[in-house]
Amino acid sequence: MNQAQFATGQCRCGQITISISDAPVLSSQCHCKDCQRLSGTGHFSLAFFDESSVTISGQATGYTVTTDRGNRNTRYFCPKCGSRMYGINTGRPGKVAIPVGILDDNSWYEPDVVVYTRQRESWDITRTDIPNFEEMPPIPPQTS
Ligand SMILES: [Zn+2]
Ligand SMILES: [Zn+2]
Repeated sequence: MNQAQFATGQCRCGQITISISDAPVLSSQCHCKDCQRLSGTGHFSLAFFDESSVTISGQATGYTVTTDRGNRNTRYFCPKCGSRMYGINTGRPGKVAIPVGILDDNSWYEPDVVVYTRQRESWDITRTDIPNFEEMPPIPPQTS
């Protein structure tokens, strides 16, 4: 029957739903200016999952940018209600970035790192007891 589920989520209007079977492989809180514009606030709280554990239903629209590392980052949103749903970055093959606010239960969330603190505004106070990076840290080697 049903695979054990780690988390479920949806956009505001419910047209897009997400189901995730396994725990994230990485969590980061990003203060880059793109995340500020796209969220309309000071940062995005992101969890990264293996794409094999993520099932997405519904029609999302993507917007692609080239990052400061030269990767292509496509962020998908609901064309009807505007919720930001997930992102795919060529610098992180096989991983899906999910803004945890779209998940039904995100009480488990804990960022591993804070990134792009160079662009963090002084009014957006965040944790300093975990690693903070001025930009994107080197992507750790894959452990398998
Ligand atoms: Zn929607
Ligand atoms: Zn960002």
